[in-house]
Amino acid sequence: MKCEKIEKCPFFNEKLANMPSLTSVLKQRYCMENKEACARYMLVTAGIEVPPTVFPQDVDRAKAIIATH
Ligand code: SF4
Repeated sequence: MKCEKIEKCPFFNEKLANMPSLTSVLKQRYCMENKEACARYMLVTAGIEVPPTVFPQDVDRAKAIIATH
């Protein structure tokens, strides 16, 4: 399902430093099709401020941040 955070998400709007070269692929894979698998989505829905260095595929990092929160 398409992510409802798209409008404000700094990743989707390409506002983060060091945007990955496969941004368009990641947008399709996560933002348009599978928001539940997105590391940023996991953090934001846990009520945690998303670090600017976390990208959708950084699930291990998101889980570690959530675990220590
Ligand atoms: S899926 Fe993740 S990166 Fe994409 S808009 Fe939602 S929170 Fe942002």
